[in-house]
Amino acid sequence: MQMHGARSLPLRIQAMTDVQSAETVAVASETLPPPAKTRVHAPGAVGVHISGVGCRATASISPDRVWIGSLMPGDVEPVVESIISAVLTVEPHPRFVVVGTPGHVNGDLGTVTAAANLGQGWRGTVELAELLRSRLGCEVELCNDAEAALEGERRRGALVACNDGALVTLSQGVGVALLHDGIQQPTELGHSVSQYGGPECRGRPHRGCYESYLGGWALPIRYRERHPGFHGVLASEIPDDHEFWTECGRRLGDLIVGLCLLGQPLEAISFIGSVAQARHGYLLPGVRARLNEEEALLATRPRSLRVTPLGDDVSVLGAFLMARDRLHPFLAA
Ligand SMILES: [Zn+2]
Repeated sequence: MQMHGARSLPLRIQAMTDVQSAETVAVASETLPPPAKTRVHAPGAVGVHISGVGCRATASISPDRVWIGSLMPGDVEPVVESIISAVLTVEPHPRFVVVGTPGHVNGDLGTVTAAANLGQGWRGTVELAELLRSRLGCEVELCNDAEAALEGERRRGALVACNDGALVTLSQGVGVALLHDGIQQPTELGHSVSQYGGPECRGRPHRGCYESYLGGWALPIRYRERHPGFHGVLASEIPDDHEFWTECGRRLGDLIVGLCLLGQPLEAISFIGSVAQARHGYLLPGVRARLNEEEALLATRPRSLRVTPLGDDVSVLGAFLMARDRLHPFLAA
């Protein structure tokens, strides 16, 4: 008893001290700046997200402070120019920039390869980090856009408090990033083959991958094969055709079943990207139906399948959080 009492006493004193100091801070906050641990301003950290449809940049975690610009797919130089101007718009004195990009990223070399969605000039290997570093005069790191999105989603979105999950991107391309035991594992599973001998992929030497059915560039082509009268070139131009989108949902379901059977049970799966946001009403029921058919998943089906609450900002917010971590490692999440 004596030991217990002796140990609990300091705890009570500690608790009282916390209350007192909280009151002191509350009174003092009218005249003094807030304590450092509650500051969210992290000067110098910038997150950027580039895709085939635009460029976003932010130097803040607040979604209403994300800068959104257009990006014309094409050669390397105009895209580099767009990134630099985006960075300097949100932070005139950048100190650490993280860029989330499509394509294969080699973080050590600072290169991106086969980012076909950015235009012709990006099909080979581009030393993007060095191109930006030399112009901005600060540290620049690259990450895959799905990796940046997973960071945003697990810290601010639908994968918060989730240890084993997956993030599926449905935009121009199809991306998959896994979270296993809290560790990010970017994958190229969007390019895994769904149907041998299927339609040609774009920028990759294979046929019939998930992206060649569900990627934003591929959907209008697939729709035109069934409806030759359709002349749209964007996924957003495809009508709300129940049969077509339900079939897309089932194919997406095949991909999700594959992810669920890879290893550890997945607690949650989050969907991001323009196609997911616009058509989730058709796609997610198809995915759920497909999962329900898999007996092997009866006990381990993910408890949550949902579209990100962060909308189009998920990747740029994730890139910003990564840059802020590198610059201010002890700042709260
Ligand atoms: Zn492919």
